[in-house]
Amino acid sequence: MDLSLTEEQQAFRDLARDFLEREAVPHRMRWDHEESVDLAIVPKMAELGFFGLTIPERYGGVGGDYVTYSLAMEELGRADSALRGIVSVSSGLVGKSILDHGTEEQKQEWLPRLASATALGCFGLTEPGTGSDAGNLTSRAVRDGSDWVIDGQKLFITNGTWADVSLVFARTSDEGPRGVTAFLVPTDTPGFEAREVRNKLGLRGQATAELFLSGVRVPDSARLGEVGRGFRIAMGTLDKGRLAVASGCVGIVQGCLEASVAYAGERRQFGKPIASFQLVQDLIADISLDADAARLLAWRCADLVDRGEPFGIAASKAKLFASEAAVRAANNAIQVHGGAGYVDDFPVAKYLRDARVMTLYEGTSQIQKLIIGRAETGISAFG
Ligand code: FAD
Repeated sequence: MDLSLTEEQQAFRDLARDFLEREAVPHRMRWDHEESVDLAIVPKMAELGFFGLTIPERYGGVGGDYVTYSLAMEELGRADSALRGIVSVSSGLVGKSILDHGTEEQKQEWLPRLASATALGCFGLTEPGTGSDAGNLTSRAVRDGSDWVIDGQKLFITNGTWADVSLVFARTSDEGPRGVTAFLVPTDTPGFEAREVRNKLGLRGQATAELFLSGVRVPDSARLGEVGRGFRIAMGTLDKGRLAVASGCVGIVQGCLEASVAYAGERRQFGKPIASFQLVQDLIADISLDADAARLLAWRCADLVDRGEPFGIAASKAKLFASEAAVRAANNAIQVHGGAGYVDDFPVAKYLRDARVMTLYEGTSQIQKLIIGRAETGISAFG
């Protein structure tokens, strides 16, 4: 088993880290307090290839492998999860859905723009009444001649107020998950409105929105995939999305490890650096173990994707473990920092606030366990 990275993969990781150390790390606390990253960083990230990694060269992307994508997500998570979310939703969830299910016209229209981040995308699945039970969503799309008219509401949509295109999942028949269809809705379509969700615990630099669709009219050419295939499109896309979340969480754990080692080496109590106390090393050892274990699960999943093998369960395991590990590691890192970890002079409090949502979105930890449990037992315990 070869777990070493290729020269290209290492080069991309180093490039990503250098860039983020310069352009994101010095500003992340301010962005967090101001509740918005500076979007001027987006085209710079696109230039480095962050947005094009999952998009082939013929559509303006970089066409990288998923191990490289995983490394990019790790570096983004280490620097600022708000940035990781912008990339993984726009090009990962929306771009990948278009790549896998779009017509040639849809690919030509959107992929070069998503790869260059001249357009951002958002993924509109969750609704006020349906989160984990997304297959029972209630937004409706009704056929009217050659158009569809969409009415409904979406909640907690990453990039919602920044996006140029929203992938909207709406009900086209009453057949439960089989009655859901996907649509690519330009956000300047009349009747589409996005309102910012404020006062989040974490990911404060990232736009999260409530979407309101009222008589939104789109041509049939905006439909992504076949009528009634929308839920399957969403679930297939989220499998790869979970890899991005897992890798972003690896970055959080890595950031917690680096911050804790640095602080424990400098902070002195009882006449010695606190790093020399066994109970402090116990905390640091747990963070280090979480980093390795989460990274190995994420890399295994990325490798399965690159080899074209089934990866859904590996993605659920990686996402479940890495997100819980990120919360645990950030808690341990705050413990290492003592009171200093409780304020924003160090990154560890922000790591904890950002990590907390990772166990919730793209399928809660409970939902990941139901997916893994179903695979192990053959019995669905969903509802
Ligand atoms: P619920 O589904 O109501 O769950 C509440 C609790 O019940 C959880 O603990 C859950 O695990 C548990 N539960 C539910 N069903 C079961 C069951 N069958 N068995 C056991 N336990 C169960 N959504 C998008 O579509 N696009 C986005 O871009 C997006 N970005 C987000 C960004 C943020 C910051 C946040 C907070 C959310 C985002 N979401 C997004 C929504 C997110 O995916 C949902 O919040 C998540 O799926 C959980 O749904 P819910 O909040 O409705 O919780």
